[in-house]
Amino acid sequence: MKEFRPRAIVIHGGSGNVDMTDPYDAYNLKTKLEALAKIVRNGWEELSAGKTSLDVVTNTIVRLEDAEPFNAGYGSSIGIDAKGKPLVALDASIMIKEGDIYRFGGVTGITNMQNPILVARAVLDQQPNILHGEGANDLAAKIAKQYKKPILDNKDLMTEFKWHKFQEFQEQQKESTEGGTVGVVVFDGTRLVAGTSTGGITGKLHGRTGDSCIPGAGTFADTIGGASATGFGEAIMIYGSTRKAIELLKEGLTPQEAADAVAAELRDSYNGNGGIIIANNEGEIGVATNTNHMPNAYMTNNMSDPVVRAK
Ligand code: ASP
Repeated sequence: MKEFRPRAIVIHGGSGNVDMTDPYDAYNLKTKLEALAKIVRNGWEELSAGKTSLDVVTNTIVRLEDAEPFNAGYGSSIGIDAKGKPLVALDASIMIKEGDIYRFGGVTGITNMQNPILVARAVLDQQPNILHGEGANDLAAKIAKQYKKPILDNKDLMTEFKWHKFQEFQEQQKESTEGGTVGVVVFDGTRLVAGTSTGGITGKLHGRTGDSCIPGAGTFADTIGGASATGFGEAIMIYGSTRKAIELLKEGLTPQEAADAVAAELRDSYNGNGGIIIANNEGEIGVATNTNHMPNAYMTNNMSDPVVRAK
């Protein structure tokens, strides 16, 4: 008889320092929590219906990218192009370990469609790698056609909220710290998969690549656990937040202990704002951030309703 393994899904909507006295930020956080509550249920239903962790992570991230309040897909943070004009450029990745083989699909600098995770998934399925620039956008155009998604004009990815943040950045060089990157980790009883998607950071330089599409930084999955990180990408890449989290699981820490340790070390040793979500192969969850907010939600077999929290 096959051993019973509990299933689990955990999702985050980005680590950040939300200024609750700013009505824009407070409203944005509220809408993120509403969206997470709905989307975690959609993911759980798929998982309960027998979909694989690869499909549940992909589909859940698509829903998060399509939702307006997150810094992923539609509604992403606005950076600049080579001429200093506003540009949304998207990074995403997805990872699984099957048998002895790690498979990773990553994309960076997607500018023409709303769902970079679908492109990352195609990379994972076809030729595990990280694609950037023209190659990534060419594949994105093919994937858009395959999934009947529109090829977008870049400004169609911009929302009023993110335009407001971009203007604040331009006027005051005030960095946007409200977060909004998305990440999902799923254990379907057999395999762990982690994925992450982001528009990066407001005002980011043309061509910047963040942690979200880098294995071991924004996303990592092994047979013991999977993790998605969010926050200041430059520090997360140097530290290797998700890789570290999985090493801590191998040393015997619980997912919650590993998440707490990673969030603290990112702050203390790397001066990095950020957080992480983790699921292990027992269906246990860990969630931690060193910022004042990281909206998140999770659901496992032994729960009747999902947990949805602002931190
Ligand atoms: N880690 C993302 C990046 O640096 C941003 C975030 O998670 O808020 O691109």
